[in-house]
Amino acid sequence: MKILVVGGGIIGCASAYELAKAGCAVTVLERSTPGAEASGAAAGLLTVLGGSAVTAFGELALESWRRYPEVVRELRDRTGIDVEHVTHGTIYPLATAEDVRAAEAKLRHPWAREIGIEAWDAGDVRSREPALATSVRGAMFIRGDHWVNNQRLVVAYAQAAVGAGVAMMTGAAVSRIVVEDGHARGVIVDGEPYEADAVLLAAGAWTGALAASFGARLRVEPRKGQMVALTHVPQILTHAIHGEDVYLVPRASGELLIGATVEQVGFQRSVTAIGIAGLLTAAMTLVPGLASLPISRTWYGFRPWAPDSLPILGPWPGIDGLFVATAHYRNGILLAPITARLMTEWMTHGQPSLDVKDFLPDRFIKDRRS
Ligand SMILES: Cc1cc2nc3c(=O)[nH]c(=O)nc-3n(C[C@H](O)[C@H](O)[C@H](O)COP(=O)(O)OP(=O)(O)OC[C@H]3O[C@@H](n4cnc5c(N)ncnc54)[C@H](O)[C@@H]3O)c2cc1C
Repeated sequence: MKILVVGGGIIGCASAYELAKAGCAVTVLERSTPGAEASGAAAGLLTVLGGSAVTAFGELALESWRRYPEVVRELRDRTGIDVEHVTHGTIYPLATAEDVRAAEAKLRHPWAREIGIEAWDAGDVRSREPALATSVRGAMFIRGDHWVNNQRLVVAYAQAAVGAGVAMMTGAAVSRIVVEDGHARGVIVDGEPYEADAVLLAAGAWTGALAASFGARLRVEPRKGQMVALTHVPQILTHAIHGEDVYLVPRASGELLIGATVEQVGFQRSVTAIGIAGLLTAAMTLVPGLASLPISRTWYGFRPWAPDSLPILGPWPGIDGLFVATAHYRNGILLAPITARLMTEWMTHGQPSLDVKDFLPDRFIKDRRS
């Protein structure tokens, strides 16, 4: 089966890789380079637990989280790329009575044992992560939270995909999806038609624009995130820290990442004084010793967001051969392995192996004419 994947972010590259392994002839069309947008901008945190209840989204996240050690091994075996997988766990500092109540609820979560949730008192905090401010009087620790260097991960997925036979076309901006008689026939790049049996839309925050190219409306919007990195010398943190307004991720590369804003400002392409100042202030409140570390870089990216903050995965209703995988919002790195598997199952067998009804595109898609 001949498949065109539009978008070479983590979702497009991971899906292309799995589709090629399943025997499909895949071409990725990326207007820039693999990982040029949100997937290169992320922090790479793989944290599975949002709320205290089990939800369909939580199950999807857990399934993907479980796959990561194997994914990291497989990509290293196939490409030689070390994606800096770190498994030291995340500390969630607790400040208010409400924080403590939320943490207690999570200790009773059905997955608490598998993902390794612990309650720490002030003494535990002092001895395990002495750089945390003395105002931190307790914490929830999640041993199973891990992280990767997502820039390397996208490149590893892209290289593994090429190794599995995928044609990776960079600098290829898709201007239109060709839909005829209720079938997706291919796409147009620079006025040239590319034909296929199926098309997968994985263009992140730009997926709505592609829908508009064939007269449909899909409400996927950008949610901008700014980040700043410090040179982590001397190294003062060993765990990731997840506060109320900021998280800190000590990378194996020797950088300390500080993120991230969540902004509804369209595709505004710059970091801002207030964005970076806010992150640094929140980070130094949690870890005062950061104040003297050098800033190594700042950047931003656009998370693909849908109105219910859930991913959009599956076949496009009413158009044969058209599929979409987007709106992973704050969790696209975490969700890439499971998304790639589900899209491959759908596109090759017509049926995914998980219950995904909460994520189907049907909930948002409107025909322009209706
Ligand atoms: C600051 C920040 C921090 C984050 N931290 C985390 C984190 O710690 N953990 C986590 O799991 N997630 C995190 N995320 C979210 C995650 O980055 C995204 O959910 C994920 O990268 C989305 O992947 P994607 O492939 O759908 O989109 P993208 O990476 O944006 O890829 C879409 C690609 O499509 C291409 N494209 C668009 N239009 C066209 C066209 N017409 N033709 C051809 N190509 C096109 C673009 O160039 C782009 O490369 C973070 C995001 C940000 C911004």
